[in-house]
Amino acid sequence: MNEIYNNFIDAIGNTPLIKLNGPSEKTGCIIYGKAEFLNPGGSIKDRAAYAIIQDAEKRGEIRENGTVVEGTAGNTGIGLTLICNSKNYKSIIVMPETQTKEKIDTLKSIGADLHLVPAKPYKDPNNYVKFSERLAKALYKENNGNVIWANQFDNTANYLGHYKTTGQEIWKQTKGKIDGFICSSGTGGTIAGVGKALKEKNSNIKIFLSDPKGSALYNYIKNKELKIEGNSITEGIGSSRITANFINAPIDDAYSINDEVALKELYKLIENEGLCLGTSTGINVAGAIKLAKELGPGKTIVTILCDKSERYHSKLFNKEFLKQKKLPIPNWL
Ligand code: PMP
Repeated sequence: MNEIYNNFIDAIGNTPLIKLNGPSEKTGCIIYGKAEFLNPGGSIKDRAAYAIIQDAEKRGEIRENGTVVEGTAGNTGIGLTLICNSKNYKSIIVMPETQTKEKIDTLKSIGADLHLVPAKPYKDPNNYVKFSERLAKALYKENNGNVIWANQFDNTANYLGHYKTTGQEIWKQTKGKIDGFICSSGTGGTIAGVGKALKEKNSNIKIFLSDPKGSALYNYIKNKELKIEGNSITEGIGSSRITANFINAPIDDAYSINDEVALKELYKLIENEGLCLGTSTGINVAGAIKLAKELGPGKTIVTILCDKSERYHSKLFNKEFLKQKKLPIPNWL
């Protein structure tokens, strides 16, 4: 690393690919993880947060001393707040209270104006996304219009940001030697942006969705039916609806991954490779192993290492919680 950055924002993106040695050896493929946990805000969502703010600035929708309002499972809120701090904007974050204490504490510690709301389905008017939209509308009038609702789920600046950065980076880093890309979807920004970038370069590259239980997207890809089965302790991924970002994702096929399989992969990555990663990464890596087996030995597959395990300590390393959920317990606990 010999670059000098002039500010926090310049450090977003250009993350390395890290070879996942265990999953690669097991499948005879090369499986790389894009190390998004190395973004300065600690997750893949720094990219979406920055793309959305940049787009709003370009359109003149936000100016000096403006306010950004957003509903988030946490990571987008962290990215947005840090970017707002560096640009002298104010951030107002609405989050379901079911998200981990670690993400809530992080948001508080960086000065976000945090509103925790009870978790409600999307169709409920008090769902956190709808709550954040109403809040933004109310503030718009008070603040002379210098307010944006980031709207990460349906604001397509999100997936276009991944198209322009994450997807191009993966193509360059693999020198075009890539056979498959797989990740989970929350807003759909990552899979749609990376999927579009890679398919444009080579339409033979397989784009797969790795979906947690409790999400309707797997059944949507398989049978065009938004049907939910099971549940999951993962955060930030899965959806009950098709967002304006997800609709652009050129997905070939999908896997449904359960928490037990995902957590086993996460614990192996810690124990054998020193990689301490968050819950959505477990779904991604378990999916990448399935895709490697499906495509056969010798292939190159890329997935996303979304954030670090430290955002989920109270779940991933909590013996009582894991026991109660009948999930595997790491042998060092
Ligand atoms: N993993 C984590 C940890 C996340 O916070 C998110 C976003 N909510 C995702 C994955 C999904 O990314 P996207 O919104 O681009 O689909």
